[in-house]
Amino acid sequence: MIDGKMRLVAFCHNPKCHHNQALDLEAIKAKLGPDAPAMSDDLIPKLKCARCAGKQVGLTYTPAYDEIKRVDVNAYRKAREGR
Ligand SMILES: [Zn+2]
Repeated sequence: MIDGKMRLVAFCHNPKCHHNQALDLEAIKAKLGPDAPAMSDDLIPKLKCARCAGKQVGLTYTPAYDEIKRVDVNAYRKAREGR
């Protein structure tokens, strides 16, 4: 996952904060090592919000932008053909 074209975005669940930040996977890899677990359940306990220091942080995996475009096109095509 770390070597793939994925973006990892952390969201703060604090309703007064809602900070979100893309995580630098290369930095995580450098910090935790190439074999570091990169699943949310493993990473979330290590994270805290950079703005409010809250520990209620959620993670979302997002494909890199060119991947998003391709996924959207495929979804659109599938939706059309599904009718
Ligand atoms: Zn926060």
